[in-house]
Amino acid sequence: MLPCSARSDAVALKGDNTMSAGTLEGVTTQLDRVADRLGLDPGLHKRLRHADRSLVVSVPFETDDGRLEVVQGYRVQHDNALGPTKGGVRYHPEVTLEETTALAMLMTWKCALMGLPYGGAKGGVRCEPKQLSRRELERMTRRYTAEIFLIIGPEDDIPAPDLGTDEQIMAWMMDTYSMQCGRTVPGIVTGKPILLGGSLGRREATGRGVSTMVLEAAKKKAWHPKKLTVAVQGFGNVGSVAAKLLAEEGCRVIAVSDVKGGIYNPKGLDIALLLREHQEKPGGTVVDYPDGDRLTQQELLTLDCDILIPAALSGQITAANASAVRARMIAEGANAPITPEAEEILLQRKILIVPDILANAGGVTVSYFEWVQDLQFYFWNERDINARLKEIMTAAFHHVWDYAGKEGIDLRTAALMLAVTRVAEAKRLRGLYP
Ligand code: NAD
Repeated sequence: MLPCSARSDAVALKGDNTMSAGTLEGVTTQLDRVADRLGLDPGLHKRLRHADRSLVVSVPFETDDGRLEVVQGYRVQHDNALGPTKGGVRYHPEVTLEETTALAMLMTWKCALMGLPYGGAKGGVRCEPKQLSRRELERMTRRYTAEIFLIIGPEDDIPAPDLGTDEQIMAWMMDTYSMQCGRTVPGIVTGKPILLGGSLGRREATGRGVSTMVLEAAKKKAWHPKKLTVAVQGFGNVGSVAAKLLAEEGCRVIAVSDVKGGIYNPKGLDIALLLREHQEKPGGTVVDYPDGDRLTQQELLTLDCDILIPAALSGQITAANASAVRARMIAEGANAPITPEAEEILLQRKILIVPDILANAGGVTVSYFEWVQDLQFYFWNERDINARLKEIMTAAFHHVWDYAGKEGIDLRTAALMLAVTRVAEAKRLRGLYP
């Protein structure tokens, strides 16, 4: 089987972590609605509908058995009105220019909402990384980096990990860029190993941000953490950290799931034990947890609980299961886990939704800290990083909450309206060149 793009059309999208083919249309429609509500200047609206710059590259590399493989790579910079652009690089067989553009636009809103001095970007390579050897991955990564060298830079556009990419890939990207420049440039990527200028707290940042958002929203509702039950779909980087931190605050985490299934105990799960089952054993899964009942991934979503945290895949809560959801609040750890049709149903049922661009923005926020530390060659301790993360996320939450209350709208619409306003205002102030 070919490891790369040649077989990608045959790969089914279902249950996948990528967004559907209609996503670019989806995010553009979302922008149109928000622009309409804001009465946005038609010229600015038109400019925001289009990405500033899109680069499509061929990435040739040699396989371990001496063949030549060519895959397609992308880097899209949606908008740089607020600063250099920022966004992850995805390695996945379904990556397309349309999907990359949609994700870049979402990054623009996420960075703007958090008040970061960044615009949004996204990159991708259409490949199946699990079928490439380490050496092949390195050669492909280095060639992709060399191909997009023209438009990235620590003050231009700063990549980061996303689906299918990790710290090691960031290290190769950083090294390739640095070799081309003839000096070490740690600020070219974030999500690097700590030894190469990565930040303390980056790995936990997204889950930490999710837990902060849940606790802030609970405060607004006057729900005491010790009385809250929590169900978490996905026990990876985001879900496991959010579960651990919420349990530390006294919440009862009653169910978690991973790719192999879920586990449930109404008295509460021992998260430390689950982490050992999941992370410390090769191929470990939460399903091996001894003190609970098995449940399916779908059953978890409709469990009787206060807080539901979908932190695995997009498109999990749909028109088909939204009416059965029993949680009082959903905090979106994953990107777009709720379809627009499901969201309508949930909002009608008065279920509170903390939207992805707010709930999971902890990752890009600590990426911003990493970049600042790299540019200054001065590194902060973890306590400072976590404190600053909490400060930024809490401020963003209150901003969105207050605005939603004032306008009588849901949190997602409020978050998007605030983000679009900020970007549009930056564009208006800068004017149109030439
Ligand atoms: P991860 O790969 O570390 O973990 C994903 C988890 O989901 C794993 O436990 C996996 O077993 C589980 N899973 C897969 N399919 C499942 C299914 N059908 N049902 C239940 N669980 C399933 O990924 P992550 O970094 O935790 O990211 C999770 C989501 O959050 C992704 O959608 C990602 O795009 C999004 N996100 C991540 C970050 C970040 O900084 N890591 C930032 C923003 C958004």
